[in-house]
Amino acid sequence: MYNSNLVSLSSGDVIMELNAEAARMASTLGKENVYNYSLGNPSLRPPQSVYDAISAILKEEDQIAVHGYSANAGMPKVRKAVADHINTRFGRNLSQEDIFIVPGSSAGLSMLCKGLSEDEDEFIVIAPFFPEYRAYLAATTAKLVVVDADPVSFYPDCRKIREAITKKTKALIVNTPNNPTGVIYPYEVLKELTDLLKEKEAEYGHPIFLISDEPYREIVYESEDLPYLMDMYDDTIVSYSYSKSLSLAGERIGYLAFSEHLSHKAEIIRAVAGAGRIFGHCCAPTLFQLVIMQCINDLSGVAQYKDNRDLLLKQLDRYGFTYIYPSGAFYILLKSPIADSVQFARHALDQHHLVFVPTDEFGTPGYVRISYCVDPDMIRRSLPAIENLAKDFKLI
Ligand code: PLP
Repeated sequence: MYNSNLVSLSSGDVIMELNAEAARMASTLGKENVYNYSLGNPSLRPPQSVYDAISAILKEEDQIAVHGYSANAGMPKVRKAVADHINTRFGRNLSQEDIFIVPGSSAGLSMLCKGLSEDEDEFIVIAPFFPEYRAYLAATTAKLVVVDADPVSFYPDCRKIREAITKKTKALIVNTPNNPTGVIYPYEVLKELTDLLKEKEAEYGHPIFLISDEPYREIVYESEDLPYLMDMYDDTIVSYSYSKSLSLAGERIGYLAFSEHLSHKAEIIRAVAGAGRIFGHCCAPTLFQLVIMQCINDLSGVAQYKDNRDLLLKQLDRYGFTYIYPSGAFYILLKSPIADSVQFARHALDQHHLVFVPTDEFGTPGYVRISYCVDPDMIRRSLPAIENLAKDFKLI
């Protein structure tokens, strides 16, 4: 009568559920008395250039076409602009055919997982990981293989990844800067990882794709130089999103970039397009394709996120909490002072109206994720609640 697997999937989105609970709480207690750190929804306005681009496009472009469908993979001039941008920035040699514009990276990743997978393929993810990967793979016959990150650095643990790779391994998904840890993977770790993948490709005689999920590429605080993974490994596919870098999460716009040297590239791009049809992603919004073309070098102010991070870290230190030091994205992975992080998050919510996300769904129980892309006033107002939470657990 219906797909029961999808029913359970629809109730598994703990982040959205907590966000809805926070909204319900705010309607009775008042918005200012609930401290919602659940969602990675940018709290900054898009840059002025986005508004300027929208007005110019709405004046100058063909007013029928701008609200119409585009080609499935995006407008040729937009694909070219993205390819040129990547080539200039990272010294690549991509053509517009290597770019597939998608309605957000959720769509791009699900199309990619569907397009790549056959039979009982395995996709490796590094825990803690963005829980939606589970949903993207639920639409395929492939299996999610979870490998824990190093428990101290939270970098990929290449020894464990080596053990997890089998002849069925189709792809490995990496996400740096990382959600939920905020950790940025250093060059040496990525080098070890890509060397391992090369070795395993040679051993099994088929490609193992590296999917670089990088919606937070621009959100870095310690002037870290993030390697472009195509430079390290030919079978790389980059999934990018403008949700965070231009604060356009609701507009649904991003792209997939396929390395010039990707194995079976033409067939994979066709399979991704076919997956887009299955999921009903006919094309990304035309207006926002044109917007990102005009704003391709712009960025929504990252300085505010850094201030938010610094304020929170200082107070978390004072209150005796333990966390993984975040150098990018806008999340802090806080160690739960009790083994059961769901219970800890429940206590924080019920007693102090603090909305933290327990990380069980991210594949690494024992922590909560604090999303600090929020109004800095909310952080300041929440500090007494965080202090009281620390007292409840005898941290101070
Ligand atoms: N990947 C990661 C790691 C994310 O954190 C998110 C959103 O928070 C996405 C992908 C999906 O982004 P979007 O669909 O908004 O482009």
